[in-house]
Amino acid sequence: MQKKNSCFLCGKVGNLTFEHIPPQCAFNNKSIYIQGHDHLIDEKNYLFGKKSLSNRGFGKHCLCASCNNSTGNWYAKDFCAFTQQGLKILEQTTDPHLSSGSYTIKPLNVIKQILLMFVCTDSTGTLNNHKGVKDYLLDKNSTVFPEKINIHIYSNACSTKRMIGYSYASDMRIGGIYKWSEINFKPFGYFLTHDSPPPNEFMVDITDFSKKPYDYLCAVNLTIARLKVSNLALGHYDNVPVD
Ligand SMILES: [Zn+2]
Repeated sequence: MQKKNSCFLCGKVGNLTFEHIPPQCAFNNKSIYIQGHDHLIDEKNYLFGKKSLSNRGFGKHCLCASCNNSTGNWYAKDFCAFTQQGLKILEQTTDPHLSSGSYTIKPLNVIKQILLMFVCTDSTGTLNNHKGVKDYLLDKNSTVFPEKINIHIYSNACSTKRMIGYSYASDMRIGGIYKWSEINFKPFGYFLTHDSPPPNEFMVDITDFSKKPYDYLCAVNLTIARLKVSNLALGHYDNVPVD
């Protein structure tokens, strides 16, 4: 099924294709039960407390065919190589708190795919309209990472998945507003911050992946905190106390 709308990336109006978030080769190729707003928040909705089945995996109608093809060719397989190594390292990890290992990856290609996934989850278009985001993703060779955006990851072995678009989260304690987005899909969780701190000190900031040239393959050592996710609450983890 196709839906006519503006492409979340280039903005052209047309039929949007289903974008797997993450790409299918990152273990997102199975039927999946999804709980969204109707299932979790609105008690009056007939779907409340239920789940819906998506036969195509996790994702949404987001990109035009042209953007889907080009970004798929440029970034997806290198991101998948990263997640496949991540799963292997996670499965070999006996430490309940940290997942450590050496990756052989193309860092720029990986971080561009992650930023693209955040653009796709953001139905408001705020992120894509942020200065430099669109140019950065539509030019595979661009190394000008958008200002005030940071991308963090954590290690995640949970089956619960989050796909939370660009949101404003308030912190009652200090009266601050944070601009955050989160995607969680085993073996990693990905957390975007915009001019805001991350929700805890345990996430690893991988924004520096953007400093390598396109297609540059190198070894990267990562020690990543394992965070437990059991619900759809942005930035909340069962093993990180909320103080
Ligand atoms: Zn497009």
